[in-house]
Amino acid sequence: AKNTGKGRWAQFDTSMDERVMRRFEIESALRRAIQNQEISLSFQPIVSLRTGELHSFEALARWQLPSGSFIPPSSFIPLAEETGLIIPLGAMILQQACEQGRKLRDAFPMIPIRMNVNISEKQFQLPYFVDQVTRVLRETGFPAPALCLELTESVLLGDSEGCAKKIRALEKLGIQLTLDDFGTGYSSLSYLSQLPVQGLKIDAHFIQGLTSSSREKVAQNVAIIRAILGLAYTFELSVTAEGIEDEEQRRRVESLGVTFGQGYLFARPLSYTDVEAYLEEHALP
Ligand code: C2E
Ligand code: CA
Ligand code: CA
Ligand code: CA
Repeated sequence: AKNTGKGRWAQFDTSMDERVMRRFEIESALRRAIQNQEISLSFQPIVSLRTGELHSFEALARWQLPSGSFIPPSSFIPLAEETGLIIPLGAMILQQACEQGRKLRDAFPMIPIRMNVNISEKQFQLPYFVDQVTRVLRETGFPAPALCLELTESVLLGDSEGCAKKIRALEKLGIQLTLDDFGTGYSSLSYLSQLPVQGLKIDAHFIQGLTSSSREKVAQNVAIIRAILGLAYTFELSVTAEGIEDEEQRRRVESLGVTFGQGYLFARPLSYTDVEAYLEEHALP
C-alpha cells in the first residue's frame, strides 16, 4: 500500500480520524450518561423450571438516549471496559440494583427477592471491590444472601491469589457467586474445585442449539449440557439455563436436569414498573 497515490493516504487519514472522533464522541457521551445517571436497569426473571416460580432477577444495564432509542449493552459495556468507565458505571449499577431490590423487598415482603448483578473483570479487580460491595449493602440495606454476583471465567482466571482472597471475603459476607456464560470461555475446569461459587449459567448458545434443525447439532448440545450438569453435580453447583425462548427448549433443559431458567419464554427484561406488575401477578396465591 506504499505506492498508492496521495489521495488514498488522505482518505485513509480521514477515515482514521473519523474513527477516532467517533469513538471519542461515544466515549464522552457515555461519560456524560454515567454522570447524569442516564443508564438504568431492567430486570429479567430467573425461574424454577419445575414450578415456574420466581427465583431471582438479573439486573441488565440499559442506556436510553434523549431521542428515546436504546444503545444495547453489547456495544457500550465493552467500550466502558476498554476506557475504564466500567469502574464508575459498575459501581452505579451495583448501587441501583441493591437500592431497587430493597424497594421491591419493602413493597413485596412475602417474596424473597434476589438480585443477580453482572460484574466486569476490571471492576472485580479493583483492590477495594469487596469494600465497595460491603458499603453498598450497608447503605441500601439489601441483604447479602439475596445478592448474587455473576462473574465470567476470565475474571476468575486472572491473578489467582488476589482473586481467591476476594472470593473468600465475599463468601464470608454471605454473597452468592455464579459463573456466567459457562462453556464459552477457556473452561479451565480445575478452578471449579478451588472456588466457592454456588452456581453456573449455561450460555444461551447451547440452549438455542437444542432446537437446531440439524440432528447432529442437537446431539452435540445435549452432550455439552450433560457434561456441564455432571460437573455441576460433582461440585454441588446450581444450574441456570439462559436464553430459553420456546417450550421445547424449556422441556429439554428441564428433562436434562437443569434447575433454573431464564429467557423470553418466561419474561423479557422488565422495567422497574413492569417488575412491580409482574410481582403483583406472581405474589398472589
Ligand atoms: P448476559 O449476562 O449473558 O445477559 C443475558 C443477555 O441475554 C441479556 O442481553 C438478555 O436480555 C438476553 N436474553 C435474555 N433472554 C433471552 C432470550 O430468550 N433470547 C435471547 N436471544 N436473548 C435473551 P443484554 O441485556 O443485551 O445484555 C448483553 C450482555 O451485556 C450481558 O450478557 C452482559 O454480558 C452485559 N451486561 C448487561 N448488563 C450489564 C451490567 O450491568 N454490567 C456488566 N458488567 N455487563 C452487563
Ligand atoms: Ca449475566
Ligand atoms: Ca450470561
Ligand atoms: Ca450470554
